[in-house]
Amino acid sequence: MALEFVSRAEWGAKAPRQVTKRDPSTLSGVALHWFGKPSAASSHDGCAALLRSVQAAHMAPGGLGTVSGASDIAYNHAVCPHGVAYTLRGFGVQTGANGTSRANREYAAVVYMGGEKDGTPVTDEARPVIAEVIRLWQKKGAGPLVKPHGFFTGSTCPGPDLRKWLELTPHPWVLDQHRTLQVAVEDETPDWLMDFVHWRLAEDADPKRRPKQVPKRVPESAWETAAQVDRIANLMGPQDTFLDWAEWRRQSAKKSERPRSAPATIPQSWWEALKRLEKIFKGVKTATKPATARPKPPVAVDTRPVTPQSTLLAKPRATRKTIERYLLSRRHGGYSDDEVKKILGTYMETCRAAGLDPLLVVSQMVLETGNLMSHWSQPPRRNPAGIGVTGQPGAGKSFTNWDKAVRAHVGRLLAYALPAGEGTEAQRKLIEEALKVRPLPADRRGRSPTLEGLAGSWATDEKYADKICGIANEIRQRA
Ligand SMILES: [Zn+2]
Ligand SMILES: [Zn+2]
Repeated sequence: MALEFVSRAEWGAKAPRQVTKRDPSTLSGVALHWFGKPSAASSHDGCAALLRSVQAAHMAPGGLGTVSGASDIAYNHAVCPHGVAYTLRGFGVQTGANGTSRANREYAAVVYMGGEKDGTPVTDEARPVIAEVIRLWQKKGAGPLVKPHGFFTGSTCPGPDLRKWLELTPHPWVLDQHRTLQVAVEDETPDWLMDFVHWRLAEDADPKRRPKQVPKRVPESAWETAAQVDRIANLMGPQDTFLDWAEWRRQSAKKSERPRSAPATIPQSWWEALKRLEKIFKGVKTATKPATARPKPPVAVDTRPVTPQSTLLAKPRATRKTIERYLLSRRHGGYSDDEVKKILGTYMETCRAAGLDPLLVVSQMVLETGNLMSHWSQPPRRNPAGIGVTGQPGAGKSFTNWDKAVRAHVGRLLAYALPAGEGTEAQRKLIEEALKVRPLPADRRGRSPTLEGLAGSWATDEKYADKICGIANEIRQRA
């Protein structure tokens, strides 16, 4: 059957405002719709006008859930009750009809031009035409799945009659000569199945990344598995790996702090979810996907063991994730995991401004507070490093929040590392702020460019620098 489509010009379509291309070979299949409301035209003479009115509704403000109107009528193709097929967005263009951006990327949309009020089943003229449109999509490379719109959204679309039609076996759109696709069934879950699912879902079916071990023709059961796993993953919602990544994007997006749990290639859906979150929580800066995934040279992390001769002013000797894993793996007083992460984030940021290695600074905090377990580190005191804690009853500084506490700690350590009058403006400001909290005798300024100078000055303990080294090296070993 050679199917002729009524062209856009023939049914009087308006030009689209914008076109998003989508290669049919990246699709898992076709989603089937009906009009629901409005109902079918009373005779074929009215079908073109009906399409024009649906296009006008989709492109009007509020159409398809947009603010200023959709870019075009939502579907790729339509079939009217009289058995005529129409080009709407057509082949090779992404639909806007399927209800989620993921489903729009993964399925074409074909609509039957009837609805709830018609009270009649889908006509005998329409069914074979719908089947042929589906086959044409498959010939252009779309996968074999045909899903009711409600599969993605839980709606009743495309109505009870077409839903029944979709469930017929063998499928009405499968040609006889293709019904013989056989797979060896000695092993019912072939080795490549999960590679296939992962490629479809996590790598957006990028043709360049298709796993070599996946056979050219994949049986429909494997496509079905991918579609069901996709549904499950969507229902389960945001996972820690996504949230870790989103938080990192928002907070620093520095390569050296990239969460290890994040996949090497970030799926398109993550970028979209992040954009939506940023819209929901207005006023935050928008994440931009790097234009090209140009591999940057890895940030050099100094991996030599920490010794008392290690300088305080240095690039980070450990990543945020590494330090975080250590802090969270041990008890941390009355602080929740999230609070600990936030405190660490403040350290990372403040140390970056100060030019201090956060590994040494946090190791000192761990030593001084027993990993945030000490009396002085708990709210309302929040003293991170025994500042002003002399052993005299009641002596010691309290901080109303951790920002102030960390700045006081980092600034004070900077004063030990830098001689008076030296440093950048940012460093001098931090020092000034910290020494207002507790003054520092002049003979201690710049006395400790390396860890060893802290022994006998910050603390009376002769082994003070060795103990910080021990913790710092343990943090890195745990990674
Ligand atoms: Zn629908
Ligand atoms: Zn018609």
